[in-house]
Amino acid sequence: KTVTTDITSLTNDIRNFAKEKKIEIESLNIREEYRREFLGNVSHELKTPLFTVQGYLDTLIEGGAIKDKELRKKYIERASKGVERLINIVQNLDMITKFESNDLNLELTKFDIIAEIQNVFDLLEMKADKKNIMLMFDEKYTSPIYVYADKEKIQQVLTNLIMNSIKYGKDKGTTEVCVETIAKNKILVRIQDNGEGIDKQNVSRIFERFFRVDKSGARSEGGSGLGLAIVKHIIEAHQEKIFVQSTLTKGSEFSFTLPKSK
Ligand code: ADP
Repeated sequence: KTVTTDITSLTNDIRNFAKEKKIEIESLNIREEYRREFLGNVSHELKTPLFTVQGYLDTLIEGGAIKDKELRKKYIERASKGVERLINIVQNLDMITKFESNDLNLELTKFDIIAEIQNVFDLLEMKADKKNIMLMFDEKYTSPIYVYADKEKIQQVLTNLIMNSIKYGKDKGTTEVCVETIAKNKILVRIQDNGEGIDKQNVSRIFERFFRVDKSGARSEGGSGLGLAIVKHIIEAHQEKIFVQSTLTKGSEFSFTLPKSK
């Protein structure tokens, strides 16, 4: 009967119709609830690093810029780290919002996935060393394996997954990456660690944004629970699949498929 052009008028039409027919509707509030929850999470995530930065800056101001040169340097560096973390959260949020409103275009090209894994290993080597974690990539990968995907975004997927395996890995642990051809035009990339693992009831929620198993533990690792949500969005935007298998205290394996290119 009525032609509606936007979600607000459509919602109103449905509400009026339901009122007329005396039907109770709850699901129309989902959008509003979703927005409220999202904003609540965002402000909560921003609060911690903001207060940290403010704390260090206040101490510097009140303490007459602190006479001790070393201490002053340390406080400035910590404030700067806090700002870095804020920028990171905002960039992640920006990306998630774009994905969720289908506003992020992929730039598909042909590239060598083996070289990309090696690049990410090089970037994260220092972080892994600090935690005594060995990054392993089988020597058999001597020739390139070409995929057709968005190179920058797949780099981010690899970085987030390998970074997590380091963050949640145990001392003297290992992270191993494998690439398998599973069909004529399909490869599977596996990232395996022998770290803390995830229990059964949490593993199904692991890709939800802002979800963290151990809020306090992850916080000390600088986590905000956005990394895996982004990874899932990126893989699904490629029409590909992502899997997780994990056993508490034994370790986790994240894997995803990509289209192979000639
Ligand atoms: P975060 O920024 O907290 O690391 P993620 O979205 O990347 O956010 O991960 C969500 C949660 O999943 C983490 O807080 C952690 O509890 C768990 N997790 C992710 N990767 C692993 C892993 N390799 N081993 C164990 N737990 C993991």
